[in-house]
Amino acid sequence: MAFDRNQLPHPEDYYRDCGLRLEGQGKWRKTCCSFCDYHTMRINVKTGAYVCTDCDASGESILDHHMELTGADEVQAAKGLGAWWHAPGASSARLEVRHGL
Ligand SMILES: [Zn+2]
Repeated sequence: MAFDRNQLPHPEDYYRDCGLRLEGQGKWRKTCCSFCDYHTMRINVKTGAYVCTDCDASGESILDHHMELTGADEVQAAKGLGAWWHAPGASSARLEVRHGL
């Protein structure tokens, strides 16, 4: 099992699914901040990077955003985004991750 960055949703799709409306054109779009609710967050739709000029929330990818939003660690966030790769044929018992959540 491993994190597979290629399985991450497209940044535009991910942020739309978060209920954010992306404004503007080009690489950087403006939207409401997920963390302080001011209209001061900018999102890079190519890389998923985000930065808020009000509360200083920032990250390099939608994985960072998801981690900060949900408090999940990297593995949990990758699983939540469907980007956790399960080795074919691995025992389902070993894949049980619900315990302790
Ligand atoms: Zn903010």
